[in-house]
Amino acid sequence: MAREVIKGIPVAAGVAIGKALFLNRSRFENVPRRVLPEEFVPQELERLSQAFADTGRDLEIARDKIPAELRDHALIIDSHLMILRDPKLKGAAERYVREQAVCAEWALEKAVDDLRQVFSALEDPYIRERMGDVRMVGERVLLHLAGDKPDLTAIEGRVVLMAHDLAPADTVEMQIDKIMSFATTQGAKTSHTGILARSLQIPAVVGVADLERAVRDGDLVIVDGLRGRILIDPDEEELAHYEELGEQFQTYQKSIIRFCHLPGETRDGYSISVMANIELFEEVAQVLDNGAEGVGLLRTEYRYMNRRELPTENELYEEYSDLASILSPRSLTIRTLDIGADKMFSHFGHLEETNPAMGLRAIRFCMRYPEVFKTQIRAILRAAVWGNVKVMFPMISGLKELRYAKALFQECQAELRREGVDFNPEIPFGIMVELPSAVMVSEFLAQEVDFFSIGTNDLIQYSMGIDRTNRYVSYLYQPLHPAIVRMIKHTVDAAHQAGIEVGLCGEMAADPFCVPILLGMGMDSLSMNPQAVPGIKRIIRQTKMDECTDLLKLVLESRTVSRTNRLVRDIIYQRFPEELTFYTSLLDMEEAQ
Ligand code: PEP
Ligand code: MG
Repeated sequence: MAREVIKGIPVAAGVAIGKALFLNRSRFENVPRRVLPEEFVPQELERLSQAFADTGRDLEIARDKIPAELRDHALIIDSHLMILRDPKLKGAAERYVREQAVCAEWALEKAVDDLRQVFSALEDPYIRERMGDVRMVGERVLLHLAGDKPDLTAIEGRVVLMAHDLAPADTVEMQIDKIMSFATTQGAKTSHTGILARSLQIPAVVGVADLERAVRDGDLVIVDGLRGRILIDPDEEELAHYEELGEQFQTYQKSIIRFCHLPGETRDGYSISVMANIELFEEVAQVLDNGAEGVGLLRTEYRYMNRRELPTENELYEEYSDLASILSPRSLTIRTLDIGADKMFSHFGHLEETNPAMGLRAIRFCMRYPEVFKTQIRAILRAAVWGNVKVMFPMISGLKELRYAKALFQECQAELRREGVDFNPEIPFGIMVELPSAVMVSEFLAQEVDFFSIGTNDLIQYSMGIDRTNRYVSYLYQPLHPAIVRMIKHTVDAAHQAGIEVGLCGEMAADPFCVPILLGMGMDSLSMNPQAVPGIKRIIRQTKMDECTDLLKLVLESRTVSRTNRLVRDIIYQRFPEELTFYTSLLDMEEAQ
C-alpha cells in the first residue's frame, strides 16, 4: 500500500511515475512578525522596494521569452506585472513597515492577505484564480526578499513537478522536456496549469489540498491524471498496476488518434458533428489534431480579463478572423461575452452583488453595457467574412433578451453597412439554452433563432440550485438526473419541431456514459474539450442508433438518478469495457460521496 493517496482535480489525462520535485511551497505560511528598531525602517523599505523591482525585471524577462503563438501566457504575465505595480499591494506593504516597524516579509504577507480578502468575498471561479495570481506575485517578491530565486533551468533528470501554484512566468523558464507531470495545490479545470498540461499532453492533477503536507522532495509518486489521484511511495503491486495502466493509456491514445479524422457517425449511418470547446487561440492546433469538426464554443471571456483596458474592435476582429480562417471550412461558433461585472473589476470597478452567479452576467451584463457588446458584435460580423462563423448568446432566459440581442445585432450590421465596412450578413444566429426558463419556452425561442446550444454546466447548476464550483454540493451535480434528462429532451424536441439544429456544449458532451443517451435524443452536435474528441468519436462510431433509443427509453422511465446511473453504467460497461478504463465520468460524483 502507498504511504498515502491524496486527491485533486484531474485536468490532463495519463499516468506518470517519478520523483517529486517541489518548485515552490506556499511560503506565506507562518512568516514571523519581526519588529525592527526604528532606525532600520528606511533600510527595510529599501529592501522591499528592491525586491519589487527585481520581481518586475524577472517578469519582464520571462514575458519577452514567450513565443508569439503563446500570447495568452504573455497576457497573464502582464496581469502579474499589473498586480505588482498596483499601489494597493506595494503601498500597503510599505505602510505596514513604516507604521508598525515590522520586517518586509511580514508586511508583504499582510498586504497580500488584505488584497485577497477583498477578492474572497466573491465566489466566482475566475476571481478565485485572480486571488491566486495576487498570491503568486507576492510569493515571487518574497523569494527576492529571501534572496532565494527559484532556479528552474537546473532541474536534473525527469521529474514530477509539484508546486503551490504554477505561473506562466514559471513555466516559460523551465525545461519542459524534464517535466513528466504537474501537480499543484491551487488550480481548477480552467487554470493555466491545466491548459498547459493538456497542450503538452502530460498528466496533471490540480487543486490537491494535501500536496504540500504529504509530499517531500524526492518521494516516488504516481500521478493518476485519469482519476485525479496521487499515490505517494507506492508499493510494487501499485507500481505494476499503474505502469500497465499508463502503457494501456498510451496504446489506447495512439489507436484512437489514428481514427479521429473519420466522421462522427454511428454504425447504422446516423451522423452527429463532434466539435471542440476552446478558450484560447493557441488551442486551435489541438482542435485540428484531434479531429474536431469545428469549434462549437469559443469562450470569449479570456480576452477581456487580466487587463485594465477593454479590447478594441480591431483586436477582437484580428483574433476572430485568424481563428475563422485557420478553421475554415470548419465552423467557428463564437459565444458573446459570458462575463459578470465582478470578473471585469479592473475596468468596471466592483459592482455590489451578493450573488454574482445570479447577477449581472453574460447577456445581462451586455444589456447594461451595450457599447462593450456592440464592439464585440461588430468584430464578429467582420471576422465572419473569413470563414464559417456562427454567433451565439449566453444566459438567455426568454424572448425579451433574445430580441434585444437580435436588435443590437441588426443595429451593428446597419452601422457597418453605412460605414462601408465589409461584413457577413448571413451569419447564423443562435443561443445557449442553459437556464430552466429558456427550456420551458424553447418552443418560442426556436422560432426566432437558427440554432440552440445546450449548456448543461449551467443548466444543471440553475436547475438543481447548486453552485457548480462548490464541492460540498457537487454530489447533486447529476447530468442524468431525471429533471435534467427531461429538460434536454424537451429542448431537442422543440428545436427539431421548429426545424433548427441543436447541439450540447457542456462537460456532459464529453462523458461517454451520457453520449449514447444524447445520441438517442437526436442531438445534432456535441462540443467538448479537444482532448475528448477522439474517444467520443470512437464511441459514436461503435454505436447503433437503435441501441441509443432503447437506452433513452429506459432512462426516461427511471424516476431516480441513482437508478438511472446504475442502469447506464451496467449497459455501457458491457458495450465498451476497454474504452471506459480511461474516462472519468460525471456520474462518478455520486459515488464519491
Ligand atoms: C455551459 O454552461 O454548459 C457552458 C458550456 O458554458 P460555460 O461552462 O462557459 O458556462
Ligand atoms: Mg454556461
